[in-house]
Amino acid sequence: MRKLPHLFIRIFVKIRNFVENMKDYYKILGVPRNASQEEIKKAYYKLAHKYHPDKGGDESRFKEINEAYRVLSDKEKRAQYDRYGRVFEEGKGFGPETGFGWAWQRPDIDFDFGFEGLEDILDEFFGWGKAFQKKDLKRGKDIRIDMEISLEDCQKGVKKLISLKKYVVCQRCGGTGAEPGSGIKECFSCRGTGRVQQIKRTFFGSFTRYMTCPECGGEGYKLEKPCNVCHGEGRIRDKEEILIEIPPGVDTNQVIKFPQKGNAGRKKGKPGDLYLRIFVKEHPVFERKGDDLYLTQVITFSQAVLGDKIEIPTLEGEKILLKIPKGTQSGDILRIPQKGIPHFRSSGRGSLYVKLVIKTPKRLTEKQKELLEKLKKEGL
Ligand SMILES: [Zn+2]
Ligand SMILES: [Zn+2]
Repeated sequence: MRKLPHLFIRIFVKIRNFVENMKDYYKILGVPRNASQEEIKKAYYKLAHKYHPDKGGDESRFKEINEAYRVLSDKEKRAQYDRYGRVFEEGKGFGPETGFGWAWQRPDIDFDFGFEGLEDILDEFFGWGKAFQKKDLKRGKDIRIDMEISLEDCQKGVKKLISLKKYVVCQRCGGTGAEPGSGIKECFSCRGTGRVQQIKRTFFGSFTRYMTCPECGGEGYKLEKPCNVCHGEGRIRDKEEILIEIPPGVDTNQVIKFPQKGNAGRKKGKPGDLYLRIFVKEHPVFERKGDDLYLTQVITFSQAVLGDKIEIPTLEGEKILLKIPKGTQSGDILRIPQKGIPHFRSSGRGSLYVKLVIKTPKRLTEKQKELLEKLKKEGL
């Protein structure tokens, strides 16, 4: 029981770190994940102004806003934050493998999102872990990576070959962990069950509980000779190329699961899963809202007045003919159905909205000037 305060401190630290990591800088500043530096700056100035303690604002909120801005306004820090959350602020190093500013190009890093440690602690102190969830100790860990794709990729879907650094099944022993030719024998202590009984006598009577066999670590068997390559683990760290297929219609923050593409398990344990979180890059021409696309098209004054037919681009790269009605006002929006992004895993597509903006010319030729003078006299 003397261990108890220590236990609570550890649980507290875990929960605190978890909550801290949940803090979303983008939410704090109220900007989307793909916000430009300019947008971030704008949002920051607005909020900093609002919450400045000198003006009677909320000081803790002000600190939060500053912290968020410090990270998101720095290109390198932002890229790291996007991948790892807040951990880098606490000075935890990432091996040389990660590099800086390589977040998107190099998804060959695995990392854990960490709340599972709590279970381990409880398990360690009370043997409670299994009460929460039966944990498969041999199962490989899940891998979570972020991937940036273009708007065109959302339209058509995309296949990408990615290189992941992870545990893969050891080829030498085929995952058993035993050196080829050597045998596996049943654990003597637990007779292959992986568990041993412990009887505890107390004032209230005796209690029986089962615990993991200390002799074989719960495996029920022992290797005569561990594999020379994986030293009995049944898996090794290596790189694996995985072909990833992203269906059409995905959007930013969507997570796609690829079952059993995570880390290989220990000694033929089940592999973990791979989770891919999508970020869609901003497009220079089209803006996406849901599955609809928005396009701004500049037209001339005479086109707006008289009507016209113009060519407009689509995301597929083809041009389509758009009829501008007579008497169009600047800012009018036309809708072209079925030219947006396909709905995710269902039929149909969003629309393309074209916003027509009338451009007032700054320079005129002599002739144009002359004609406009005449129009002016006519009251136009
Ligand atoms: Zn091996
Ligand atoms: Zn055993």
